[in-house]
Amino acid sequence: MGWFGQKNKLKQDVNVKPLWVNCKNCKSHIYESEWIENLYVCPNCNYHGNIPSQKRIKLLFDKGSYKEMFSGIGPVDTLNFVDLKGSYKDKFEANKKKTGFSEAVITGRGKVNGISIVAAVMDFRFLGGSLGSATGEKILRATNYAYEKNIPLIIFSESGGARMQEGVLSLMQMAKTCNGIAKLNKKNIPYISVLANPTTGGVTASYAMMGDINIAEPFSVIGFAGRRVIEQTIGEKLPDDFQTAEYLLKHGFVDSIVNRKDMKNYLSNVLSFYNR
Ligand SMILES: [Zn+2]
Repeated sequence: MGWFGQKNKLKQDVNVKPLWVNCKNCKSHIYESEWIENLYVCPNCNYHGNIPSQKRIKLLFDKGSYKEMFSGIGPVDTLNFVDLKGSYKDKFEANKKKTGFSEAVITGRGKVNGISIVAAVMDFRFLGGSLGSATGEKILRATNYAYEKNIPLIIFSESGGARMQEGVLSLMQMAKTCNGIAKLNKKNIPYISVLANPTTGGVTASYAMMGDINIAEPFSVIGFAGRRVIEQTIGEKLPDDFQTAEYLLKHGFVDSIVNRKDMKNYLSNVLSFYNR
């Protein structure tokens, strides 16, 4: 094989999907099959990577009990937003194609160890799990369904915050979703918030922190403004573990940290406590 042959072979090799995943925390190489089998969690350091929302749903609900709701709701480019990278419309259409769903949150109902619940599961792969008008609408409709049917609501957050391409319409979703959740309190319907990596910006500042119980996955970054912005504003260096789930637990902002493999049973235990 001459140089050109080798070059072509190299090109083919580059196109082969890598067989391993680099853990973002301990940097170790883990076979992709092992990583997936371990629920996208590092077997060496317990770092919890992003899990596709469909897999999270499968892990959570009893077999055959899940039914997706409000799946037809998707983003609208009301502001005709365009930036240097192109139009918002092109971006969300590309994300729809990439992920196979219409928004950064999937909403549905089903049973968790026999207990009926409504869940909204965010997915970071869709525009960074950002909170747009349709994201907020789906969360509100899921919340209203919980209210009407008197069943608990669980939201899994995984988000970079408000969706900048929708401007103030995105920020409005913070008040809209919180208003829906506040209504649940009137009927004593439990709302559990699970914070995955990362939960930041407008999502942290609204429904993600409103749970009757706020649970985090290990190593999740949870915060409002970014670390650098805060350091520049207050003129002080922040602790190394600042804005981690573990730091927040220590300071009373989350109630517990739960491993992904234990999440289903933990949630049904909490819910059965409310049901007594
Ligand atoms: Zn690791």
